[in-house]
Amino acid sequence: MNTQHEITEKFAAICAIEENYPLSMLTTFEIGGPASLAIFPEDRKQLLNVLELIKSVKKPWIVIGRGSNLLVSDSGFDGIVLVLREGPKRMIKVDDEIWNFECGVLLSNAITHLAYEGYRGYEPLAGIPGTIGGAVIMNAGAYEVWFDDNLIEVEIWSPYNGIKTVKQEDFKVSYRHFRLCEYEIILSATLFFEPAKSKEVLANIEKYLQMRKHTQPLGEKCAGCIFKNPRNSHAGFLIEQADLKGSSIGDATISNAHSNFIINKGAASARDVWELIQIIRERIKKIFEIELELEIKLIGNFDV
Ligand SMILES: Cc1cc2nc3c(=O)[nH]c(=O)nc-3n(C[C@H](O)[C@H](O)[C@H](O)COP(=O)(O)OP(=O)(O)OC[C@H]3O[C@@H](n4cnc5c(N)ncnc54)[C@H](O)[C@@H]3O)c2cc1C
Repeated sequence: MNTQHEITEKFAAICAIEENYPLSMLTTFEIGGPASLAIFPEDRKQLLNVLELIKSVKKPWIVIGRGSNLLVSDSGFDGIVLVLREGPKRMIKVDDEIWNFECGVLLSNAITHLAYEGYRGYEPLAGIPGTIGGAVIMNAGAYEVWFDDNLIEVEIWSPYNGIKTVKQEDFKVSYRHFRLCEYEIILSATLFFEPAKSKEVLANIEKYLQMRKHTQPLGEKCAGCIFKNPRNSHAGFLIEQADLKGSSIGDATISNAHSNFIINKGAASARDVWELIQIIRERIKKIFEIELELEIKLIGNFDV
């Protein structure tokens, strides 16, 4: 049986690691207590070696990308956090109009790269601050364009049967959800894009970034939309109608720019955000008889 120290040493021999690492450093909310161990693979080889080792460790583990859709509890996560924002990051042109992006590539970098290479398709998603892996899992979307619109296949690592390729006809995808088995992770995504003039694609990206600027609290510490939109409505609209815009608990405030965003004005705790979420849910339930469902993912202990 390996001791904790021996396990840590084994991971450290593969790539960068940090013990008791504050997850507030890894989330766009800038909220969250420490992870017992954070692991930062930089390329595919390191990631696969980490995954092989992690299978034999009797500790809970999770994966995060850019941390842009997460609320991490103040007590953090008593386990291993595999951080994919530093890699793997390869962008490969597989064939004419077909591209493969590794899970750690930032979605915004992929979209800009495609524009310079003369391909269009995801400009409405420009400005979403996540990784390719996070975009697959959350089926990221904006302005009626969804990440899975152009998705041909994904490469998945599974602790049960290794690396497998899953084709579009076998995806189980829905609104902000891509079904994976527990402990499976996305290694890369293969997508198609139509050729287009770079100048026009770049102008289109700029147009969507400007639209975002006017509708979202960009530059603030936040995690995107807190709630999924209920059927035939918008969570932000309901929150505004319930007169909750601008409401605060501690430094956690409902954004004036977009009522479905909670922003951390400085030193908000996960507890503050969580209490605000409960207030919103209760008020919306009382007024509209609608149960708002979380879009953000929770990490650590919350009294759910
Ligand atoms: C200012 C702002 C604006 C935003 N606007 C939008 C928007 O317009 N549309 C939209 O859809 N979202 C939006 N978001 C939310 C967020 O950026 C997206 O959901 C994004 O796709 C999350 O990617 P991530 O890498 O940050 O994932 P994380 O937040 O790190 O993780 C999200 C989930 O994905 C899992 N995950 C991440 N990578 C992998 C992987 N490789 N394999 C398996 N599981 C993985 C994690 O375990 C977690 O469950 C916004 C967020 C912010 C802060």
